[in-house]
Amino acid sequence: MQDKERLTGEIRELKEKRRAVILSHVYQRPEVQDVADFVGDSLELSRKAAATDAEVIIFCGVHFMAESAAILSPDKVVVLPTLEAGCPMADMVDEIALARRKKELPGALVVAYVNTSAEVKAASDICCTSANAVKIVSSLPPDREILFIPDQNLGRWVRRQTGRPMHFWEGHCNTHDKLRPEDILEAKAAHPAAVVLAHPECRPEILDLADAVASTTGMLRYAKESPKREFIVATETGLLYPMRQACPDKEFYPAATRLVCPNMKRTTLDKVRDALTTLRPRVTVEPQVREKALAALARMLELS
Ligand code: SF4
Repeated sequence: MQDKERLTGEIRELKEKRRAVILSHVYQRPEVQDVADFVGDSLELSRKAAATDAEVIIFCGVHFMAESAAILSPDKVVVLPTLEAGCPMADMVDEIALARRKKELPGALVVAYVNTSAEVKAASDICCTSANAVKIVSSLPPDREILFIPDQNLGRWVRRQTGRPMHFWEGHCNTHDKLRPEDILEAKAAHPAAVVLAHPECRPEILDLADAVASTTGMLRYAKESPKREFIVATETGLLYPMRQACPDKEFYPAATRLVCPNMKRTTLDKVRDALTTLRPRVTVEPQVREKALAALARMLELS
């Protein structure tokens, strides 16, 4: 506990000195969320940081998120406290494999979930988040084929909502994809009055059992606005911390305690302190890649 207080104090001091803003994804450790200026989902965080006059962004999340921050804030120094914090889903597609698939599907529009590298965004027509994917896909010309990358679970969910036929990539989130219907049924048996909230990165059979399917921000909003008092949360367990903080009078249960993304938990307070001290490891995006990736993000932002 003493260690936590000492590190938190050091981080606060260094943050002022470096004119830094600290961002934390909702899946981060509670103590990391506590030192952040903003806690939220990846794109929302990058947009908030871009609107500040901070010189440095410390991104407590995974690599593609820090890249998005670098794309939106080219004049700020972007630091990812742990360079090993990657996203296995984002790594399931690269620009070379994507170029090959595009040749097989000439004329198809590529919709890239933001959980992709800057190079993959740059080779895509438009980006989407889990919150706006349905809206983005609905807005595309009906006569064009669609290639949705890389999360096939999210893609299938969007296809179901929009009725648009789509080509998928064989990608998934290793954490959400672990959840099985038995987990939900067990959680429901233990908490029969609870509402089941599920993230669209879960498999279709999980979404079939949910009362609501939403992004992390959407789940948080749902819990705040709902008159219900108990919720089973089918996403990475980190989200339970901000949910409990936002709704201290409500009960939140993980759909399965093993829904932990190891990459999201790599960032610790001492790594945040070290990142502020050394301003390393830095995440940068090549200007030519940045320009094209920004165009794909900007098309999404115009529509959402
Ligand atoms: S929870 Fe899934 S999508 Fe998010 S960083 Fe971890 S592996 Fe990637």
